[in-house]
Amino acid sequence: MRFLTPIIFDPKLDGKLVDLSPGIDNVKASAVNFYEGVTKDEVVKYYDDLKEKSSNKLLSFGLNSKVVKQNGRVAEDVWKVGGLYDGALKKVVYWLKKAHTVADNETQKAHLDHLIKYYETGKLEEFDEHCILWVKETAARIDVAQGFIEVYQDPLQKKGSYESVVSMKDNEASKRIAAISAQAQWFEDHSPIAEAHKKKSVVGISAKVITVLGEVGDAAPSTPVGINLPNADWIREKYGSKSVMLGNIMESYNEVKAKSPATEEFSASEEVVQRVKKYGALASNLHVDMHEVIGHASGRINPGVATPDKTLQTYAGTLEEARADLVALYYAVDPKLVEIGVMPSVEVGKAEYDQYISSGIMTQLYRIKPGDNLEEAHMRNRQLVASWVYEHGKKENVIEKVSRDGKTYFKINDYDKLRVLFGQLLKEIQRLKSEGDYEAAKNLVENYGVKVDQPLLAEVHKRYEKLNIAPYQGFIQAKLVPIMKGSEIADVKIEFPDDFVAQMLEYGEKYSSLPVRN
Ligand SMILES: [Zn+2]
Repeated sequence: MRFLTPIIFDPKLDGKLVDLSPGIDNVKASAVNFYEGVTKDEVVKYYDDLKEKSSNKLLSFGLNSKVVKQNGRVAEDVWKVGGLYDGALKKVVYWLKKAHTVADNETQKAHLDHLIKYYETGKLEEFDEHCILWVKETAARIDVAQGFIEVYQDPLQKKGSYESVVSMKDNEASKRIAAISAQAQWFEDHSPIAEAHKKKSVVGISAKVITVLGEVGDAAPSTPVGINLPNADWIREKYGSKSVMLGNIMESYNEVKAKSPATEEFSASEEVVQRVKKYGALASNLHVDMHEVIGHASGRINPGVATPDKTLQTYAGTLEEARADLVALYYAVDPKLVEIGVMPSVEVGKAEYDQYISSGIMTQLYRIKPGDNLEEAHMRNRQLVASWVYEHGKKENVIEKVSRDGKTYFKINDYDKLRVLFGQLLKEIQRLKSEGDYEAAKNLVENYGVKVDQPLLAEVHKRYEKLNIAPYQGFIQAKLVPIMKGSEIADVKIEFPDDFVAQMLEYGEKYSSLPVRN
C-alpha cells in the first residue's frame, strides 16, 4: 500500500505513462516500467553499442527486456522463462505447447516452435524466425498473433508490450479484403508519393477478416480493429506482412456508432448526417482495410537510411500511423474501389472524409482533459492530418470552420481538392520516412499533432456531456466453456457475461501469475 498509494494518488509522481515532450529526458519523465535508474542517453548508447557488436544488425534490439542499472552498469533484464516475468511466460509456454499438438499444418507447428523457444531463451533471432514463418502461414483457420509487439508505450519505441490475439478466419467477410489486397501493386503505382519511394514489387500482403476468440495484454479490454504484423521492417520488405481485420470487433463498434447522437451533434449539415448514417459503417471498414493492407505495407526507405525508430525517433509512431491513414484517405474516393466491387459509390469515401475531419479536429478531443495536449500516437496522427489539410486548404476554403448557435462545425466544401491535399501530405510524410528527415518530422508533429485548441476542447466536452457517451469503449470477452466427454473436449459453449468488473476480478483471481513489483 505504501508503495502503491503515491503512484495512484500523487499527480506529480509518474503522472504520464509516456512523455514525448521534446528537449527532456523522455526515459526519466515517462512512468512506463521499461527503464529503471537509467537516462535516455545511457539507453541510446547501450543499444548503439549492442548493435555495433552484434553479427546480426537486423534484430529488434531491446524488444523484450527492461533496462536497469546493475552495479553501476547499464544492463538488460530479459523477459523470458527464468528471467523477468517468469511466472507468466511459463504459463504462456505451457499453453503454446498444447496448441502445438492441434496445429492446423506444419508451418504453424514450426512458427509455434520458434515462439516457444523465444520465450524460453529470450533470443530475438527466434522471434524473427517465428515472424517469418507466421507470415508464410496463411492456410490455417485458427491463428494467433502473439509476442511483445507494439512499441507505442516506450518513449524510445523499442520495447514491445505483450499481447495475444487468438482468432478464427471469417471466410465470407475475407472476400472484400482479398479484392483490395489483390490490387496492392496498382495502389503503389498510382500513389502520389515520389517514384523513388515506391516499392517496385509489393510482396506478400495477405489479408483476412477474423472473428476474435480471445484477446489479452495490450490487446484487451480495449482492442485494435486491425492488425498488420510483423513490425520488423526488414521482414516486411523481404517476406511481406499479414493483415487481419477484427470483424466482430468492428461490427460492435459500428453498431454503437450508427446509433450515436454524436453524428447529429457534430455534423456540419443534414446532408452529412444522412451520408454518414448510410455509409459511415462501410466507410470505417474500408478505411481500416486500406490503412492496414495497403497503407502500412506501402513505400520504401532509401537504401542506406536507418529504420524510423532510429531516424524519426519519438515521432516515428505518429508519422507511421499518419502515413497509413493518408493512403486510405487518398484512395477513399477513388473509382477504383467501386470498380473492384468493395463500395457502391464514391459517396462512401465522402462519408469517410466527413468522419475523419470531424474526429481529427474536434470530436476526439473528448478523450483528453482540459489543459492537456495530445500524447497518444493515433490521436496525434489524426489531428496532424486533419489540421494540416484544414490549414493548407484555407486559402481555397476547402474546409470551412462554421459557427452556428455558438457551436463549431468543420464543413468540407471541396472533396476533390481535399483529396489532393491528402496526397500532398502523404508524399511529404513518405519522403521524410524514406530519407529519415528528423527535423521535418519534428516540425510536422509538433506544429500540427500535439497542441490542442483549448477553447474548442472545452466546447467539445460541453457538447458531449449532454450526449452522455463514454469517450473510450472496451470489451467484455465472450467466455468459451468446454463441454467434456471424459477427458476429451466434445464441444465448446459460448457464454456472454455482461459485468465488466466481475470479469476483471475473475481474471485476476484465476490467472494472475506475477508479483506486484516487477
Ligand atoms: Zn496502423
